[in-house]
Amino acid sequence: MAQLLILEYPDPRLKKVASPVTAFTAELQKLVRDMAETMYAAPGVGLAATQVDVHKRLLIIDVSEARDDLKVFVNPEILTAEGEAEQEEGCLSVPGYYDKVKRAARITVRAQNERGETFELAADGTLAVCIQHEMDHLVGKVFVDHLSPLKRARSRDKLRAPITAPMPKAPSITPYVWAPPCSRSRATSGISAATEPPAMPVASVRPSTMRMGGELMM
Ligand SMILES: [Zn+2]
Repeated sequence: MAQLLILEYPDPRLKKVASPVTAFTAELQKLVRDMAETMYAAPGVGLAATQVDVHKRLLIIDVSEARDDLKVFVNPEILTAEGEAEQEEGCLSVPGYYDKVKRAARITVRAQNERGETFELAADGTLAVCIQHEMDHLVGKVFVDHLSPLKRARSRDKLRAPITAPMPKAPSITPYVWAPPCSRSRATSGISAATEPPAMPVASVRPSTMRMGGELMM
């Protein structure tokens, strides 16, 4: 197994339209295993082949809490879509950016597994969102394409910014200032407030798969 490189927006290869899978070979099965390793390591809940620069209609998803329910969709097609849902989404190809996207709330999908066996699946909630997000990748669409031009520009600016947040400056060493006992408490509290180190940046290098707000990386 090998981890694959995930393309990052606005890489033009993310705009390629994937072609149908016609041969269910050992090579395809190896690609599925490598994509799964890449998705779990990222960590993310979904990954489309487009994101690893393979332009075939293939995507994988695991929205389970235990990370032990890998779903493989080859040549997926949406048969029915109904309702409307808006959920905060993130994308492994747009690291560090999250936004709400309107999608169908319930869908039914027909696809093949990695051995070429056809199945149909009804999905709602996170699974439905994730399938639609990944299927967008297969037609060269990234989730920020759903946003307004202003928000899209903001997401691009965010990606241009340095990946690591600037480290807070080390608090300067406060020289001990002698003060008579009666005035010390006021003096020290003033000093400690002024030299309180700034809070550590919250963003970690690898955002967790399901963050507090339920944001998803896919
Ligand atoms: Zn994505």
